[in-house]
Amino acid sequence: MSKKEFLVFKNARIITPMRIIDNGILIAEDGKISDLGSKDEIEIPKNARVIDVAGKYLAPGFVDIHLHGGGGADTMDATEEAIEKISITHAKGGVTSIVLSTVAAPMGNIIKAVKTIELAKKRTLPGAQVLGAHIEGPYFSVKQRGAQNSKYLKAPKPEEYLKLLDEYDCILRVSAAPELDGGLELGRELKKRGIVASIAHTNATYQDILAAVDAGYTHVTHMYSGMSGLKRVNAYRISGVIESTLLLDELTTEVIADGHHLPASLIKLIIKVKGPDKVSVITDAMATAGLGQGRYSIGGLDVIVEANVPEEFEIPEEEGNYVAKLLTRDSFAGSVATIGKCVRNMVKFVGLSIQDVVKMATINPAKVIGVDDRKGSLTKGKDADIVVLDEDVNVVMTVVGARMVYRNNVFSQE
Ligand SMILES: [Zn+2]
Repeated sequence: MSKKEFLVFKNARIITPMRIIDNGILIAEDGKISDLGSKDEIEIPKNARVIDVAGKYLAPGFVDIHLHGGGGADTMDATEEAIEKISITHAKGGVTSIVLSTVAAPMGNIIKAVKTIELAKKRTLPGAQVLGAHIEGPYFSVKQRGAQNSKYLKAPKPEEYLKLLDEYDCILRVSAAPELDGGLELGRELKKRGIVASIAHTNATYQDILAAVDAGYTHVTHMYSGMSGLKRVNAYRISGVIESTLLLDELTTEVIADGHHLPASLIKLIIKVKGPDKVSVITDAMATAGLGQGRYSIGGLDVIVEANVPEEFEIPEEEGNYVAKLLTRDSFAGSVATIGKCVRNMVKFVGLSIQDVVKMATINPAKVIGVDDRKGSLTKGKDADIVVLDEDVNVVMTVVGARMVYRNNVFSQE
């Protein structure tokens, strides 16, 4: 009989979906959570490797369902090495599962990236594990393109996307503008296949969004970025995507809580209206994530990574809270955050409870992409994907399937 491998965390404040267990013990066995509870309920197996976390928080590993890159690498590089760099960079931010996003580009380049993601999904990576792909473009409205290259934007054509969807099972999510010709047909096709249809880079009206929800769209990509809001047509007000997302219970959404893309007031508004169960925290991080401040040339684009937050902004500038901007500084060139940074911002500066924020970074995104049967909470039988957070909500250790992939110097002796 082979010897069982136990990894045990003790003296932890365990964050479960229902409560926080003080002085808790969690046992991982062969990559899964086999037991958890308070000190008095749980017996530590004899041959276990025990980590005393000294009263720190134990949370489920973060699940980032929308990111492009990190550590100087981008998903569109379409190489194994690029994905490994992204995996390591985000593991440092407490992330254990990632869904890699492509961008609007020639279809051949998107296919190459998806092919690489499909292979990466089957491998054990050095940091966060790849769960699948998010196709973000090219089916977007030119009017709401944001940082997407308008040269490649177009209406969805079944002869193009069916090939992609037929060939690659790793596609978990497709973002598109439902008001384009063929946008509803795409939504129906995605729904039929169990792929998340997400409303994005869209100039839709409320009526368009009603039709989109009927067709199968269930999620809204990066709230307040690349979407229409209230407009006036002569004397009449017409609701846009922002109002529709806030209003319709059928839709979940996601926020970039990097301390730059959204002020605390907007994050609070979204959560107040949608509730803490319908919002996920994402990074939408680019290749410059994890590189620190400075000037970089990424994919032919010169960007500057800095803090430089205006005084009116509600989230203060602090170490590591950076963003990438175009050199003109009048536009963001993407987030450089990890989920760990976003979680800290939401607890410390937006003023939400750590339990609600952890939900938004774990079980909510896991539900959006349909992996909540094995990810997203510290529950018996689920994968032992774990993050340790200190009292000040900094990531100090990341564990993927009971395998330690990151620890800061606090735990260097373990
Ligand atoms: Zn994105």
